[in-house]
Amino acid sequence: MTNNDFMLSVEDLTVSFDGFKAVDALNLYVDRNELRVVIGPNGAGKTTLLDLICGKTKATAGSIRFKGKELTKLAEHDIVRSGVGRKFQTPSIYENLSVFENLEISFPRGRGVFGSLAFRRTPDVVERVQGVAEEIFLADHLDMEAGLLSHGQKQWLEIGMLLIQSPELLMLDEPVAGMSVKERELTAELLRRICLNRSVIVIEHDMDFVQRIAHKVTVLHQGKMLAEGSMKKVQADPRVIEVYLGH
Ligand code: ADP
Ligand code: MG
Repeated sequence: MTNNDFMLSVEDLTVSFDGFKAVDALNLYVDRNELRVVIGPNGAGKTTLLDLICGKTKATAGSIRFKGKELTKLAEHDIVRSGVGRKFQTPSIYENLSVFENLEISFPRGRGVFGSLAFRRTPDVVERVQGVAEEIFLADHLDMEAGLLSHGQKQWLEIGMLLIQSPELLMLDEPVAGMSVKERELTAELLRRICLNRSVIVIEHDMDFVQRIAHKVTVLHQGKMLAEGSMKKVQADPRVIEVYLGH
């Protein structure tokens, strides 16, 4: 199998900030329909890795191929357009718009001359918004102002705003931070469901949550891969226990 068979192939990826390598010659391969969790101590380079994949930060060296296409030279919006969605640690929703409107404005529009001006609330848009709202447990909150949602619901809404664009690779940075136990359970259910037709990369510290969702776990440490494999395998790895799990 060639590396182009992976949804995402990261090879020799390096980014240097004034000589400090936050990500250092990293290789990472993510399959189609895989849910990969990336763990590691603070400062390991987890968020920087997602920044590199989504084009927010430019690589110093190495390659990132998504469905065989090189991303390192693309602008952020072209990476989004090619099917990569990324959620940041803090939700960025429009607090004074309704849940419905937040989803609606995230719906990918025609890219005609008139852009958003030509956008109309057509039945297919309404149907898609309702479908996504159901997926993210907000079907009964469509008319609510987003600012009034709980912290967990805001996180779900932001996931919905990405889902409505049908990304083939979805990346989430600490999605359950600040969520209640019940919200965590529902989020695990949501993530297991959404990776059925796309690849998902999740950064997370909550090991009970990781256990529930991960197909494979990658442990980062000082910008490098320390260990990779099943949850069971990495949990038993003495190096992982020493730098991360033991604390
Ligand atoms: P993690 O998400 O694993 O906690 P980060 O990827 O946020 O770690 O950070 C990895 C390291 O890179 C940290 O030491 C951080 O200070 C550094 N870093 C991240 N972004 C920048 C930047 N834009 N400029 C300089 N240093 C950075
Ligand atoms: Mg981080």
